Amino acid sequence: MKSEKDLRRAIVQVCKQIHQKGWISSTDGNVSARLANNRLLITPTGIHKGFMDERDLIVVDMEGNLIRGTRQPSSEILLHLTCYCERPDIQSVVHAHPTMCVAFSMAGITLAKCLLPEVVFTLGAIPTANYAPPSTQEVADSIRCHVKEHDAIILERHGSLTVGKDVFAAYNTLERMEHVAEMTYYARQIGEVRPLEPRQIEELQRIGEAHGWARKKVTVNERCNNCNACGKLAPERNNGAAAPDVERVVEEEVARALAGRG
Ligand SMILES: [Zn+2]
Repeated sequence: MKSEKDLRRAIVQVCKQIHQKGWISSTDGNVSARLANNRLLITPTGIHKGFMDERDLIVVDMEGNLIRGTRQPSSEILLHLTCYCERPDIQSVVHAHPTMCVAFSMAGITLAKCLLPEVVFTLGAIPTANYAPPSTQEVADSIRCHVKEHDAIILERHGSLTVGKDVFAAYNTLERMEHVAEMTYYARQIGEVRPLEPRQIEELQRIGEAHGWARKKVTVNERCNNCNACGKLAPERNNGAAAPDVERVVEEEVARALAGRG
């Protein structure tokens, strides 16, 4: 385990990077790391993470009680505590508000695994946790089942949650997830996005396993055409919109084409 001094430096570095990337604004976001003796080092509440100092970080116990430091714990402390409780293997938790990931969740579109090899290799799938009001126990409960199996989770209409074996690993996963969201967004603007074929996913999983990359296998239910990141399905999740009447749309398009020819 790294020294507390090294962890303080790493957390401040990662917070500044997240701010520079534009994935948090003002006092948003929080980052934590495990210390020895059931203690956590975590960013305090109400501080701008882009201008934070190593001395601003505080130490809490596994119930979230302040042990050392002059500031109060992050408002999302429950989110962090739940991750450490459910995942004894992780050393760090990063919560941010990455633009594209949040935008996809606002549009009711889940970001899944079926489009890009690196997601199949590394993350397996990116689940979206149901909406819960920020800073509540409900947020912590919304991710509990997901974090057991996944290192990257989108919090609906709120942000991201990534975990890892150290502060930089949790940050790397955030960066990868937002990059995937960005590429998916642009692909959807350009044209139809075709998901990977099931046999291609299986092939990628075999390669990933051989390299020891894949943490979680993409299951049959999670495979292509369920995630709707490709935009092929309607209605999209949570927006309450009715599915377009495909027959009617086709008829209208055909009528328009025929009228144009005439
Ligand atoms: Zn947040």
